[in-house]
Amino acid sequence: MQVTSQTTGYGGDYTSAWDAYRRRRRWVFGIGLGGWAGLGVFAMLLHAGNFQGKRPSIPEFCFSTLILIWFVTSAIAGIRLSFFKCPRCGRQFFATWWYHNGFARRCVHCGLRKWAKNDSPEEDT
Ligand SMILES: [Zn+2]
Repeated sequence: MQVTSQTTGYGGDYTSAWDAYRRRRRWVFGIGLGGWAGLGVFAMLLHAGNFQGKRPSIPEFCFSTLILIWFVTSAIAGIRLSFFKCPRCGRQFFATWWYHNGFARRCVHCGLRKWAKNDSPEEDT
């Protein structure tokens, strides 16, 4: 049986699938950059407390807990992104069981171009 866009539920229009992919990608970048910014501010607060010879008002274990939370959420967001399914064939767009390419410009299974709105080859460059 050949897998088509009809069986993946997109009905030939892949726009919503790529919107979902963009959201997943924004989560990865947002968590990554937001985490750096948040931890930077947190580290400055800790450092400021130490500078004045006082005990930091924020316990240091909070810092390591935040780093752990940041690490876990980054990993979850990254895994969700890498498990993105091809809108045409429904299999992982970027990976097979033995191969992974997060920068793949085509589905590693069916060859659908990244960002293709439908099955037409006209936008192929
Ligand atoms: Zn595919």
